[in-house]
Amino acid sequence: MFGVANRHSLAWHICKTAHAQGAKLIMGVASERFAEKVQPLADEVEAEIVVCDVTSDEAIDAAFDEIRSKMDHLDFMVHAIAFAKREELEGRFIDTSRDGWNLAQEVSSYSFVALSRRAESMMRPGGSIITLTYIGSIRISPGYNVMGAAKASLESAMRYLARDLGPQGIRVNAISAGPVKTLSAAGIKDFRTMLDHHEEVTPLQRNTTGEDVGNTAAFLCSSMATGISGDVIYVDSGYHIVAR
Ligand code: NAP
Repeated sequence: MFGVANRHSLAWHICKTAHAQGAKLIMGVASERFAEKVQPLADEVEAEIVVCDVTSDEAIDAAFDEIRSKMDHLDFMVHAIAFAKREELEGRFIDTSRDGWNLAQEVSSYSFVALSRRAESMMRPGGSIITLTYIGSIRISPGYNVMGAAKASLESAMRYLARDLGPQGIRVNAISAGPVKTLSAAGIKDFRTMLDHHEEVTPLQRNTTGEDVGNTAAFLCSSMATGISGDVIYVDSGYHIVAR
């Protein structure tokens, strides 16, 4: 499980659901400092922690060596990692800097490819890989800017990974979640307005919850979802079908 920062993290909600379903978990965190912060959460779901800054291939290799020493195989892997500089999430998209673009793509999209490559050798037929995306990949979402392009790249990577790993019986999918108040979401300008808009216009007339996302992730990891691969599953109270 990559991407637990705190109790609000979507990855934490997935951890709780997976733990309730009997999964043994390893949580990947970006640094030792975050490992200390996340330890109480890991204890709650009896998970172990490995440090893994996804901007470094050496760090990813070391993390997977550690994972291999703790588990003989992986049934599933969840990638819930994204980052963009705050200044890239306001103003005009056309002003996106080269560095800002590269950083968002590296952390939010390439990391999915890099982690999936290492996970492949630890997975058996029936394995499931999941990433988290947002509708800003295919529609213009105010303030999402460079992250929209990173999510488009992530969704495309997900489809290519599904094709590569399909012959081994490994499924790869993305959950496109509606807006949920988390640490990352706090970086998006006018996030409150976004939440209010979603609540008003979605068919379910409510915002997405972490539990909604956790439940769908558990389904995608389970044998109930054996025919689903290469897909983007919307967990957004139906927002994606609305015209305004
Ligand atoms: P979050 O709690 O802030 O999680 C983001 C995670 O990314 C954090 O655990 C963060 O770790 C990790 N991360 C960033 N840079 C990293 C690096 N270099 N190496 C390793 N980990 C790194 O926010 P979240 O909303 O749950 O985000 C999880 C995923 O859901 C993201 O892909 C996000 O785009 C997606 N999503 C969120 C929403 C929403 O509204 N919240 C909607 C749709 C999709 P550290 O804190 O340790 O740096």
